[in-house]
Amino acid sequence: MSNATTLIHSIPVDPLTGSVSVPIYQTSTFVQEAPGVHKGYDYARSNNPTRATLEQVIAQLEGGSTGLAFASGLAAIDAVVKLLQSGDEILAVDDIYGGAFRLFTHIYSKFGIKVNYTDTTDIRNVVDALTPKTKLIWLETPTNPTLKISDIAAIAKVAQQNSILLCVDNTFASPALQQPLKLGADIVVHSATKYLGGHSDLIAGLVVTKDEALGAEIKFIQNASGAILSPHDSWLVIRGIETLHLRVQQHSRNAQAVAEFLAQHPAIDKVYYPGLGTHHNHEIAAKQQSAFGGIVSFTLKEDAEALAKKVVCSTKLFKLAESLGGVKSLLCHPATMTHKSIPVEQRHAAGVADSLIRLSVGLEAVEDLINDIQQALASVNAAKLKPITSEI
Ligand SMILES: *Cc1c(COP(=O)(O)O)cnc(C)c1O
Repeated sequence: MSNATTLIHSIPVDPLTGSVSVPIYQTSTFVQEAPGVHKGYDYARSNNPTRATLEQVIAQLEGGSTGLAFASGLAAIDAVVKLLQSGDEILAVDDIYGGAFRLFTHIYSKFGIKVNYTDTTDIRNVVDALTPKTKLIWLETPTNPTLKISDIAAIAKVAQQNSILLCVDNTFASPALQQPLKLGADIVVHSATKYLGGHSDLIAGLVVTKDEALGAEIKFIQNASGAILSPHDSWLVIRGIETLHLRVQQHSRNAQAVAEFLAQHPAIDKVYYPGLGTHHNHEIAAKQQSAFGGIVSFTLKEDAEALAKKVVCSTKLFKLAESLGGVKSLLCHPATMTHKSIPVEQRHAAGVADSLIRLSVGLEAVEDLINDIQQALASVNAAKLKPITSEI
């Protein structure tokens, strides 16, 4: 069966009533026949039928045994890190999501968990950076915002040989384009806020494990720490997932066209998009992803923060906002927005230049999006002749 069919039919019809839409069980508790005798549900932090459906759906989409839904992507990441103990180390991709960096640096360092960062796009760096204390390898591929690609299957082999867990943040690709568990990863996390939800209308996180015992451990953490997803938001994510396949294909087509336009524009220096033949790891992306996703980043020839800020304020269709993966196109300036919690030297080393702009290419007609970027760049070129007097 094709992925689209599997995806649509992974969402079950309600067995009780035949309702085609998954019911929202807006309840805190469930009546028991006798103490401990119930229908599988006793308290809604531990289990909720609407959340359970989402958890089954995401497990199936990622090809895992266990799915778990959290109140945010960061809560999902937090639950995975709680598998570790004081003294353990994480080896993470250097171009990591800013919020994950903040969680690792400012929270988990207090509990004796150390995180080492390396450029995981080259497998040799991964092998070199392992220590006897490394218990978890943390990948994002593609990364945010420079769209770095790491070879999941090759890194999974190294992880297995060293009895280290491999977790992949699959937010940017989504299971419609990439299934890390099938490539050897142990855990997948998602900010379902992005493509899975798909409509910029919720905050949610998901974890999927390949192994059932590992899934049970994270389920224990989910219940013990309590950062669960609400029934209503679980329903919204399920509804988003129904059109995931369709949306992500169109996001990818639009992003490819935008990236090709940017690549030939005279004001643009670098374009980061795994679908371009010039991308550093284009072949690996083509091997492990079925399309290249909806995020495109670029830098300006004149690498100035003030100029980039003018560009992001000059588009009309691309709205200036953090986040990504929704129907509407968004853009942001990572250095002063999503990545401002990362120290400047480390940010530069990871390729997040002062003029870097990240686009979340939406589902509008692509010619309108290209025209919008073109007019923004043109207006800024004119403005550049005048001194920039005030910060935006
Ligand atoms: C947004 C994002 C997160 C965090 O998710 P929230 O839902 O905002 O908590 C984690 N990883 C990546 C790659 C993201 O883009």
